[in-house]
Amino acid sequence: MRMIGLIGGMSWESTAVYYRRLNEQIRSRLGGLHSAEILMRSVDFETIVNLQKQGRWDEAGEILAKIARDLEDGGADCLLICTNTMHKLADDVQQAVSIPLLHIADVTAAAIKAAGCDRPLLLATRYTMEHAFYVQRLRDQFALDPIIPDDDDRAVVHDIIFDELCRGVVSDRSRALYLDVIARGKSRGADSVILGCTEICLLVGPEHIDLPVFDSTALHVDAAIEFSMTKQTPHPRAAQSVAS
Ligand code: GLU
Repeated sequence: MRMIGLIGGMSWESTAVYYRRLNEQIRSRLGGLHSAEILMRSVDFETIVNLQKQGRWDEAGEILAKIARDLEDGGADCLLICTNTMHKLADDVQQAVSIPLLHIADVTAAAIKAAGCDRPLLLATRYTMEHAFYVQRLRDQFALDPIIPDDDDRAVVHDIIFDELCRGVVSDRSRALYLDVIARGKSRGADSVILGCTEICLLVGPEHIDLPVFDSTALHVDAAIEFSMTKQTPHPRAAQSVAS
């Protein structure tokens, strides 16, 4: 089993979902008392949110890149950034290390394509819905035609993430608001829904939604499990030290 490196804490409410699902998946595959090989660094989310609000993405990128290096040095064989939003900085993180970063948009888009859908409604933070890094990747690399909620709906989706879900608050009222946003997306032609923020699975899931649902958190975890369970290749640093 290869070691999964997690850049977590954004927020810890969803990192806890990652931790539980990773371990559940390994237990169900291997049985007994098996559990996942994980190396996690969990940040103080308030610091990151302030950098997001001030548009200081470069500084956030430096923080995440340093964490990525620390995880690689600690023995991680791959990296997951446990938030869609901070994949805005995926290139900075990948460039800092020689182990692979498993990109959350890629694993989500691959699942959408495999299901034969192509017009997913994207529910996410404003950064993910409005900045190019995510939506353009879905378009350019996967030929998807994502539907973005209108401005009022983006505000609802974004505010519930930061004001409630990241603080451990899950309410029926907010679930109803999300389902209204989804109904409007469906009427605009959405054929599926991306839970494109790692906390949204705490609020809604396939049991609430009459379209195929692609939960980025679950798909990201499942990709990490596949990686972890594939045959081990020498760690890049080990290969370098043998060669030198
Ligand atoms: N966890 C959220 C996401 O997947 C939002 C938190 C953040 O801003 O990183 O985008």
